[in-house]
Amino acid sequence: MAASQVRVEFIETSRGGRHLAWNGYRYRQNNKRDTWISWKCILTTCKATICTRDDIPTKFGRDHNHPPSPAEVEGMKIISEVRSRARVEMTPIPSIYDEEITKLRDAPWDSQTREVASKLPTFSATKSAMYRARQKTVPPIPSTRQTIQLNDKFQRTTSGELFLQADDGDADRILIFASPDNVEHLCAAPDIYCDGTLRAPPETQQPRPSPTYNSRDVYSTLPRPYGGRHNH
Ligand SMILES: [Zn+2]
Repeated sequence: MAASQVRVEFIETSRGGRHLAWNGYRYRQNNKRDTWISWKCILTTCKATICTRDDIPTKFGRDHNHPPSPAEVEGMKIISEVRSRARVEMTPIPSIYDEEITKLRDAPWDSQTREVASKLPTFSATKSAMYRARQKTVPPIPSTRQTIQLNDKFQRTTSGELFLQADDGDADRILIFASPDNVEHLCAAPDIYCDGTLRAPPETQQPRPSPTYNSRDVYSTLPRPYGGRHNH
């Protein structure tokens, strides 16, 4: 078979680099010129290499001097997927980890699946790298109202409509979120029901914010409760 017909995969490493995976072996980048890359086996004592151009294998070098570890490579792929989802999704990281691990149950429970499961790091062993990955795209949890950062991504809905309708004030900053459609519904509604919670907001320094969820679809974060409060 021509080298270019061999299917290789790439696994994102915890430091943001890539490893090449093929046939139960892992390789790290050794040399690079434009789109040409030479990869060397992850084991320092092994001289096996693969060359790729545009991520397609062009040449296989020496053979490995050790057996492959397909279970370890599969485990790395799972952890890499968790890390990459942690970066782009807002799903809680423990849930992403559970979801990805659960996929192993769909595989036949044979000796290889058991070995993959046994090689997987526990959540507590890998969580720091996961949270680091998320911090690259999600602003840190604000300690004051003034430091809440809302870049464009957090000002729009997933379909690109403006979601942040008002951002006013400093220490008493008020944020109001609603899609244009829902503002129209709210304006047309004969009755508007409001409710509030003091428990949902992230912990911040005083004054503690009081997010108030107006109607079904308009959300505001207020610096303090306005009007009366229920006593029950
Ligand atoms: Zn090797």
